[in-house]
Formats: sequence, C-alpha cells, structure tokens
Amino acid sequence: MEYEAVIGLEVHAQMLTDSKMFCGCSADYANAAPNTHTCPVCLGLPGALPVLNQRAVELMAMTGRALNCRVNHDTFFDRKNYFYVDLPSSYQRSQYEHPLCTDGWVEIETSEGSKRIGITRAHMEEDTGKLNHVDGLSLVDYNRSGVPLLEIVSEPDLRSAEEAKLYCAKMRQLLVWIGVNSGNLDEGAMRFDVNVSVRPRGSREFGAKIEIKNLNSIRSVERAIQYEIKRQIDVLAAGGRLYQETRGWDEDRGITLSQRSKEYAHDYRYFPDPDLPPLALDEVWIAARDAALPELPDARRRRFEHQYGLPAQDAALLTTERAIADYFESAVAAANGHAPKQVANWITGELFRLLNATGKEIGDAHVTPAGLAELQTLIDRGAINLNTAKRVLETMFHTGRSAT
Ligand code: ADP
Ligand code: ZN
Ligand code: MG
Repeated sequence: MEYEAVIGLEVHAQMLTDSKMFCGCSADYANAAPNTHTCPVCLGLPGALPVLNQRAVELMAMTGRALNCRVNHDTFFDRKNYFYVDLPSSYQRSQYEHPLCTDGWVEIETSEGSKRIGITRAHMEEDTGKLNHVDGLSLVDYNRSGVPLLEIVSEPDLRSAEEAKLYCAKMRQLLVWIGVNSGNLDEGAMRFDVNVSVRPRGSREFGAKIEIKNLNSIRSVERAIQYEIKRQIDVLAAGGRLYQETRGWDEDRGITLSQRSKEYAHDYRYFPDPDLPPLALDEVWIAARDAALPELPDARRRRFEHQYGLPAQDAALLTTERAIADYFESAVAAANGHAPKQVANWITGELFRLLNATGKEIGDAHVTPAGLAELQTLIDRGAINLNTAKRVLETMFHTGRSAT
C-alpha cells in the first residue's frame, strides 16, 4: 500500500520587544547573568499584577496581517495551568479560546509550484524560564520567564518533510522581515513542534497524530519528520497500530522516542486570567498595524520579476532578507535603473560569495550600492572587463575603496 504523510506545525517565536510581556524587565536576556532580569511579576509571586506590553500586541497583530489572518477585536488571556519548575506561577499566560489572529495562510514555493498552507491561529503567550543542568544539578534561570512569544499553528496541510522545511524557512523569513523576530535560531529565537501522521494515499481520514516537541532548528524539523514518517509507515506496513502520543527528538541518534501517550495528555484547565482585562482592539488600531507593515517578501519577489525583468530564482535570492532587497534596489537606483540583471548577478554571485567567505552581513559590506553601480558603469563603458571587475570588487569589499 502507498502511504501519505499529513503534517501540521506549531511555531513558537520570541517577539522583539524591549521588555517582557507583563512586566518592565528587559527581554534581552542573552548575555545576562542568571536571574538578573526578574521581578515579582515574572517570578510569579502571589499578588504581583501583570501589565500588558503594548508593543507585543502590535507585533502580534502585524504578524497576523502578514499571515493573512483575521485580527480579532475582542480577545483575552487565559491561564494554562501546569506545574513545572521553570514556570514559577504554575500557570502560563496564553490565549486559548479566543486567539488574537485566526484563519490565515502563507505560500511556500515547492518543486511542484507554490502551495498555500493554512494558518489556524496565531496567539500571544509568555515564555517560561530555563533549566540548566550542571554537574548533576538542575539550576533554574528565570530571565526568560515572561518573555513574549507568539505561537503560530498551521492547518494539517503539509505533506512532506521538504514542505515542512520550506514552511519553517518561510516563517523565519517573514518574521525577521517584519521585525518581529531575530531569526537567531541558535539562540532559541524560534522553536518548533511538529505533528505527523500517515494514512493510506487517497484516504480522507487522518491517522493518529504524533507530536514531536521542542525542535530548535529547521534541520531537526526536517530530519525528525523524515524519521517519523518512515517509522509510522513501517509500523502500519507490519500490521501494527499507531496511537496518539508525544515523542521527543534525539538529535545525536537521529530518532524519536516516546514521551507520553494520550492517556497522560495534560488537562491544562484553561480559564481567563482574572488579573488582565479583556483586550479590545478597534478597526482603526488594527488598520494602523496593517499600515506599519513593509512590502512583504512574496510581493516584493514578484515585483522584482515584473519591474526589473529578473528571473524567478534571482528575485527569490534577492528577497531572502529585507536588507538584501533594499541593497539591490538602491544599487539599481544608483545606476539610474540601468542593467538590473547585471546588478542582481553581482549581488547573488560575487557579493554573496565574499559575504559567505567572511561571515559578514550585507549591511557590514564595505561595497555600497552606489559603489556597485559605479563598477557596473565602468564595465558598460568598456573601461574594464568582467574579470578585472571581479578583482576590483574584491578589493572594494576588503578595503572600502571605490571602483574609480
Ligand atoms: P491539539 O489540540 O492536540 O493541540 P490541534 O488540533 O490543536 O491538536 O492540532 C495541533 C497541530 O497538529 C496543528 O498544527 C494541526 O494542524 C496538527 N494536526 C492535527 N491533526 C493532525 C493529524 N492527524 N496529523 C498531523 N497533524 C495534525
Ligand atoms: Zn519581571
Ligand atoms: Mg494545540
């Protein structure tokens, strides 16, 4: 029998706010000594009252609009109750029945063309503290406790590890692009839960959902799904049954391991947080968040194709990051709109090569967009040939000198 995989993703992304979700503590804890960014609110002390971070709501609403979601007017925060040492209050503030954003979609570019992936919901919640295991001891650091997170839940629309990878990359690109997330996955800025099931191809029903929690790289998402699809198909092909469960990903061994089955699934006893008033957003406020959004990567990619006559691949490469897209358009403008394809070639070829080799970002490059345009002009005038131009660019890149 032929099987097909069904995959849905939950993405947790830290929002780039200065302070935490419900208190004034700094949310930038990356280099802070343990437990120095804490106060009675984010330590969950009884009686400490939360105050909602307006910037987090703005970023959340912008995210919702970027994901083609409806941004809901009337929502509130729930308490999600469970006990764990990294959760000092024994509840996490989250949104459950009434998430801020619902019913959206994003597009991924698969080898078979573009595909729309539904977004069920996107809501706000607060991060937990962090356990560090040192010399047989478990030490808890509450600096991360209360850092604003956004959670984005997809419809079960993904059908392969490859599509899931593209989806995660798309989320990262989009969230960084609109300034909501740092994109630094190494630092835990985004974490992924994947839900995987398999079913006989052609079947309309879903198989038992297996959830793999807390993956922290796109590569792990891809590997865990590949492993899990094969494991599940093997079980079914051998005449076995699958049960809904949560599994963990063992990065070193490249396998998933059972953690808890449905019988032990949590009952979080959600209820509205009595310490926080309902969140009422009006149409004008939501429209202002729309207006705050930059041109989004897909739209910009398509515009690059039409306006500058670029091949799809060039347009995609130039819109992976906003800074690159800006750089390209500045260079074309500096060249008075002349030779956009050549400018694109310089960026996606030599400049990317030099950036890669030196580990630099485009913003740190010594070659300015105007400098690049100037170089292209020298070639067009026949003053230098292509090979010389490559050497000149390299010198410009390392020294910051101009082409002339
Ligand atoms: P739960 O209530 O257990 O959290 P949800 O219905 O909220 O489950 O779904 C969580 C995630 O799992 C979503 O991304 C959803 O698309 C995905 N999902 C739901 N059912 C399945 C399934 N049978 N196979 C794969 N993914 C699924
Ligand atoms: Zn605090
Ligand atoms: Mg869920």
